[in-house]
Amino acid sequence: MHSEDNCIFCKIVKSEIPSHKVYEDDEVVAFLDISQVTNGHTLVIPKHHARNIYELPEHVAADVFQTVPKIANAIQRETGAIGMNVLSNAEEIAGQTVYHFHIHLIPRFGHDDGFGAKWETHMDEYSQETLKQLASQIKQHV
Ligand code: 5GP
Ligand code: ZN
Repeated sequence: MHSEDNCIFCKIVKSEIPSHKVYEDDEVVAFLDISQVTNGHTLVIPKHHARNIYELPEHVAADVFQTVPKIANAIQRETGAIGMNVLSNAEEIAGQTVYHFHIHLIPRFGHDDGFGAKWETHMDEYSQETLKQLASQIKQHV
């Protein structure tokens, strides 16, 4: 059961539980992820409760995403990271564990710095015709 009432990130927004905030405005909060996958690992969230990217109203998305570059640059400047992974997990299969939309900013320091994302590529299995068909099918839903 996941709802606004028992949402840990809504509680962080309202400062009902402690967090280490690095940014806050009327719509958005950024705070250090408790797990610190790498040094400086930060979450950017809307104050508005939305389960994940699927349920994010466009104006809320605009507010959150427009803050990401300045938070990313601030983390980079402080930590001296040599790169950054920016990601958002939606639903359990994708690794979502907190059901209030959030963007992870994971600064990178080297190949063995604690973060790993592994994916396979399948270019050989997709012809131009297949890609064209897939794109036109997705387009119908936009
Ligand atoms: P997800 O797995 O949903 O993509 O990411 C949820 C993140 O929230 C995890 O990286 C986890 O460490 C972080 N997290 C969970 N509970 C808390 C908390 O109470 N405080 C903070 N600062 N981070 C939390
Ligand atoms: Zn929430």
